[in-house]
Amino acid sequence: MHPDRTQPDRPARVPRPRPGTARRPAAPSGPVAALVDLLLPRTCGGCAGAGPPGSGGWCPACAAETGPPYPLRVPGAGRVAVAGRYRGPLRRAVLAYKERGRRDLAPDLAAVLAPAVAAVLPAPAAGRTDPDAVWLVPAPSRPAAARLRGGDHVLRLCRRLEPRLAATGLAARTVPLLELDRRTRDSVGLDGPARARNLAAGLRTSPAAPAGVGDRTATGPGRTRSAVPGGTVVLLVDDVVTSGATLRACRVLLRRVGVPVTAAVLLADATAPAAERSTAVPPAHPAARR
Ligand SMILES: [Zn+2]
Repeated sequence: MHPDRTQPDRPARVPRPRPGTARRPAAPSGPVAALVDLLLPRTCGGCAGAGPPGSGGWCPACAAETGPPYPLRVPGAGRVAVAGRYRGPLRRAVLAYKERGRRDLAPDLAAVLAPAVAAVLPAPAAGRTDPDAVWLVPAPSRPAAARLRGGDHVLRLCRRLEPRLAATGLAARTVPLLELDRRTRDSVGLDGPARARNLAAGLRTSPAAPAGVGDRTATGPGRTRSAVPGGTVVLLVDDVVTSGATLRACRVLLRRVGVPVTAAVLLADATAPAAERSTAVPPAHPAARR
């Protein structure tokens, strides 16, 4: 079945806060956010300074220090592009967004990520200029980590990326196809193979996935019918790439359920040797990882 015609645009289950779990009110968006930003400038996520009115949580100086996006070779992960290196302002902004409660930075980081999407789109085929649609598939967080962060931070990033891509003529839609089992361990401290095993054990398709995903009927052994409408580009989205284990695990599972990943886009590249990175800032809580 054609998933687009059988599912609402937002198939994700809306996570409900557990009783007693404090949640900050959602940051304003759209014109309201622009007005609030003019009246009460937010500090920049990259340098904590106040940028010019209207610059939001990402000042021009930090923007100038980040990017342009570049392709990254990650074995087994297909085509990958990152917005910048995991250092300096981008690293501070990602940590502030992910671990320090700066959920208001989502639109700013979506703006940082958008050019990476353009960097991985396939070259236009003859007679075509753009894909018919873009699926943004967020790399999932562990449920415990998402709760501590007030929601899944990559999912939120994808939602904010949609209008950015729409403004460039790309019909982007967030399709949360994956989730991590609640028993999945925090991957911090695990080596590459152990991290891969941990993810392989905990990663699964979401019950909210569109109809057709995972449907293996009418295919031969080892082959899965594509669950993606023709002309659709599937982008796996994540915040930081370190070993590439998450990208590989997500890609393998998605291919198995009939969703071939076109490319992956990430905010930050942490594949460089540790010595090249700036001073480490540990997450606020050990459970608030992945
Ligand atoms: Zn700044």
